[in-house]
Amino acid sequence: MSEHTPRQSHSRVALITGAARGIGLGIAERLVGNGWQVVLADIDGRECEQAAARMGPAARAIALDVRDEDQVREAIRRTEEWHGGLDALVNNAGISDPHSGPLEELELTDWQRWLDTNLTGAFLLAKHALPLLRRRRGAIVNISSTRALQSEPDTEAYAASKGGLDAFTHALAISAGPEVRVNAIRPGWIDTRSPDQQQAEPLSAQDHAQHPAGRVGQPADIAALTAFLLGPDAGFVTGQIWTADGGMTRRMIYAD
Ligand code: NAP
Repeated sequence: MSEHTPRQSHSRVALITGAARGIGLGIAERLVGNGWQVVLADIDGRECEQAAARMGPAARAIALDVRDEDQVREAIRRTEEWHGGLDALVNNAGISDPHSGPLEELELTDWQRWLDTNLTGAFLLAKHALPLLRRRRGAIVNISSTRALQSEPDTEAYAASKGGLDAFTHALAISAGPEVRVNAIRPGWIDTRSPDQQQAEPLSAQDHAQHPAGRVGQPADIAALTAFLLGPDAGFVTGQIWTADGGMTRRMIYAD
């Protein structure tokens, strides 16, 4: 099938950004398993193509830099051309490294790189996807972080971008309803390393045990919550920020 041939399908359609690897890839795999058609969008177009090919005919790939409005417009246009509409948008693409160095040395261009990718990208995708989502009474999930709530030193740009994404989520839920529901997920520590890396450097018993849930998270944990929030069982849920961190943000951490 040519990439310009529309797909005749009654499956629900999701566009997932940053889907070449990590959490975004896990979300795409889960949705395909649930019978969705997915469009994987990532700045790394080649890795995205490979991931979509592994997933089979339910997945297609687009090279997309979420900071570029023309590319975003084109990604939405192609999604509509392929599938005739859109039921779900997952804003997952992000600079996942939170460490930007001491604030006094942080260049404006670097600050903007975090904000443009993690926050402005979600705005651009939502802006251009909303008309399609409204037509199908769809849903948006934004992937935030527990770093919107708590911090290590030298992580201001990342924390600010995720705090902004939380606020964007509840504001948009009020504007986009009742047709479109908008929620966010704040993952805690999610082990997104390749199986090879995980084998070479296994996590310690303490890494897992410090979590009230007894383990570090996996992409599948975030994917399961995303699938719920996009699905019909979450029809009465919008404007909420869901923390999925194995309970870490509920643990008292004062030194003895
Ligand atoms: P990841 O493995 O680095 O995956 C993120 C993907 O987004 C990468 O493929 C990355 O491509 C892509 N990307 C980066 N900039 C982009 C842009 N401008 N346009 C399109 N795609 C872009 O990260 P992850 O750990 O799965 O994280 C996914 C999301 O979860 C991020 O928003 C992150 O902040 C959030 N999160 C992660 C954790 C965690 O513990 N893993 C915890 C809390 C929140 P390149 O690698 O080529 O740049």
